[in-house]
Amino acid sequence: MTLARTWSVGLAGVQGAMVEVEVDIAAGLPGVVLVGLPDAVVRQSVDRVRAAVANAGGEFPARRITIGLSPAAMPKQGSGFDLALAAAVLAAAGTVRRRAVEHLVLLGELGLDGSVRGIRGVLPAVLAAARAGHRQVVVPLANAAEAALVERVEVLPVESLGRLVEHLKGSAPLTPYERGPLPADPPVPDLGDVVGQAAGRRAVEVAAAGGHHLFLTGPPGAGKTMLAERLPGLLPALDEQAALEVTAIHSIAGTLPPEAPLVTRPTFEAPHHSATMAALIGGGSGQIRPGALCRAHRGVLFMDEAPEFPRAVLDTLRQPLERGQVTIQRASGSATFPCRAQLVLAANPCPCASAAGDTACTCSPLERRRYQSRLSGPLLDRVDLRVDLPPVTRAAWLDGLEAPESTEVVAGRVARARAVAAERLAGTGLALNSQVPGRMLRERFAVPRPSLRLAERALERGGLSVRGFDRVQRVAWTMADLAGRTVPTADDVAEALGMRLQRVAA
Ligand SMILES: [Zn+2]
Repeated sequence: MTLARTWSVGLAGVQGAMVEVEVDIAAGLPGVVLVGLPDAVVRQSVDRVRAAVANAGGEFPARRITIGLSPAAMPKQGSGFDLALAAAVLAAAGTVRRRAVEHLVLLGELGLDGSVRGIRGVLPAVLAAARAGHRQVVVPLANAAEAALVERVEVLPVESLGRLVEHLKGSAPLTPYERGPLPADPPVPDLGDVVGQAAGRRAVEVAAAGGHHLFLTGPPGAGKTMLAERLPGLLPALDEQAALEVTAIHSIAGTLPPEAPLVTRPTFEAPHHSATMAALIGGGSGQIRPGALCRAHRGVLFMDEAPEFPRAVLDTLRQPLERGQVTIQRASGSATFPCRAQLVLAANPCPCASAAGDTACTCSPLERRRYQSRLSGPLLDRVDLRVDLPPVTRAAWLDGLEAPESTEVVAGRVARARAVAAERLAGTGLALNSQVPGRMLRERFAVPRPSLRLAERALERGGLSVRGFDRVQRVAWTMADLAGRTVPTADDVAEALGMRLQRVAA
């Protein structure tokens, strides 16, 4: 018999799916036939395997070889199948024992010299293998720590095809990876470092507590970036499920730091305004890579100088942010990634961007309006909080000399507020005030009328749209949750209005 089977894993978005690799060697003209929807990279795999086998001292069989990848209907992308292909070919040729590979899962790309190279997407692949009941996974040495995040599976790191052959022959078994304690989380930037921006600090606290998208305007140097960078530190740490989910995205994106394989804190992604649609949303040739939006899943997507982003890019973000997932279509197939990110937009008040703020502005009123209107539209409609930061000298004066609160203190308040909101929203499938749809807000979570008078007046005068009215109520709930009140007061509504009407203090 000249048929051998082994296993690898294909990826569809962040989900891994088991792929059975079958190799049949028959008499006939030498040649290789690959069946089962492989992409160009997988087809080149045969050439890499041939060279690697030769360089590892083996012999690539000079006969008719048929390699099948199943399920056939699933598109196979990337170079991660090399190792499984090599193992199955060698087993079918009788170089290694067939029994040794038939339950094994193999992940890794082969260099022409027979070295085993690291690949992207190891975590979701190993998760899928564990779910399918596999007990042993061979991975590139470079991905061992990441693979070992999945318990219940023995991880066998390998650096070369030669070593794998020795292992499969039983002459020199691979040493299973030993799981050590996970490295401590890297320190987060502290909110206490932001001196003299009480309104800005309050805004990120409210944003963190209610999950509200945030828009910060203010002159250069006012601390927009500093504040945005401190938002992830105010969000609760990721639970185990969320950590694996976010890590899987970064694994596929190739942005996982090797020394800290598990992402346990909400991430911070700050794409530049010149970033391509693929860099922002996702794309690329071959295996589809998630973009900054997806890498910010359960974290913060910060868009500095937001009016400089192309309008099409901004408009594209709205729907994924609303749905919490994005589907990327490519010629090679499509992939869906989660992207429940919290958005922070930042902008200068005008194109001249004077650090002294409006007092030194040299723009015409038309230029200012045109600049600010670049951001209007569907994306800004989703932003609950809009805060205008004064130039830092004036802000420091307004604050007085009080020492700002630390991230630890504010994060504690945020956690309590989130718990209260989650309890109130129990049974709705929602957890945060920002997620409550307008109709549910009016029917089940309306702010008491007497507290709403100020907002109603703004609505009547045209200073607030109907949607804006809803957003003020959502934010007012968050204010109440932070203060430990059971319902929002008129003061909560007034503060929410203040974070809604732009440039009131200018
Ligand atoms: Zn200006």
